[in-house]
Amino acid sequence: MRIADMLARSKPTVSFEFMAPRDDSEVDVLERTVATLAGHAPDWVSVTYRLRTGDKTLELVTRIKRHYHIEAMAHLTCANDPDRTRRILNWMEREGVANVLALRGDDPAANERFTSADPYLEHASDLITLVKRSGYRFGVGAACSAEKHPESPNLDHEMRYMRFKVECGADFLITQLFFDNAFYFDLIRRARDEGIKVPIVPGLMPIPSRRSLNVMTAMSGASVPHALQQAIDEAPDDDAIRALGVRHCIEQCAELLETGVPGLHFYTFNRAKAPTEILEALRGQQLLAS
Ligand code: FAD
Repeated sequence: MRIADMLARSKPTVSFEFMAPRDDSEVDVLERTVATLAGHAPDWVSVTYRLRTGDKTLELVTRIKRHYHIEAMAHLTCANDPDRTRRILNWMEREGVANVLALRGDDPAANERFTSADPYLEHASDLITLVKRSGYRFGVGAACSAEKHPESPNLDHEMRYMRFKVECGADFLITQLFFDNAFYFDLIRRARDEGIKVPIVPGLMPIPSRRSLNVMTAMSGASVPHALQQAIDEAPDDDAIRALGVRHCIEQCAELLETGVPGLHFYTFNRAKAPTEILEALRGQQLLAS
């Protein structure tokens, strides 16, 4: 089923992002996480794509669909050569994958600018156009930033290309992580003013550790509110930081649900504990159905 159709319903969707395993050592934890979070009956899930581990993305997406009967979306980036991009899209279609998240991708060697292996795929908009013009019938999602993307000169530039991705055929958007809902509300207001009508799903990251927070904020351009940063700086260890992150994420989700959002999308980092605690708290507050 197309994710855009689920997002059009009145009840907000719950979804999880899983990271395709980079090597065998990550498989067991991932399997346990998928099994645990499948128990929370997400409306849909998604699996990240990296050039080196692309096959694992495709394997995991089909396995989740078949084994758990959950709609699983494959991420795809512009990092492949033209032949491989086609082969992947054909394979997805054959396997019944219904949705693809079309992304430019980040360079695996962080801090380096992304380099494309296909001169016609420089940006996510090019990949969206390729999918749409080639007659594939996937629902197509795309990324957007609640705050400024690190490469963008300003928010207007960001909005222009966000709108372009929708014009090329993206039927829903997922935001990069953010810790202050004011950025999301402002994004929605500006997007609607620009005539962007597709659902925009907030992407939420329960902070996994100090190190992951630093990596993710550097890559995404997300800022950490002063009070939260201060509490993190004073936290004795990663357990305390994780607990702070869960509390903060519950508050964010509660406000987002009360204001009305099409869904909540959790960046899980392949860990089930934080999303489980967050969902239980939101159900306890009757903000989400059990
Ligand atoms: P683009 O839309 O191409 O945007 C990149 C920059 O170029 C922006 O500054 C934008 O304003 C600008 N721009 C966009 N289009 C044009 C254009 N036509 N001409 C000129 N400038 C333009 N990365 C991975 O490698 N694998 C993943 O699985 C993955 N999953 C993600 C999931 C989500 C929900 C999100 C939010 C991000 C994910 N990322 C992933 C990270 C993503 O690849 C990075 O944020 C990347 O830096 C930008 O991707 P994009 O698709 O937004 O690119």
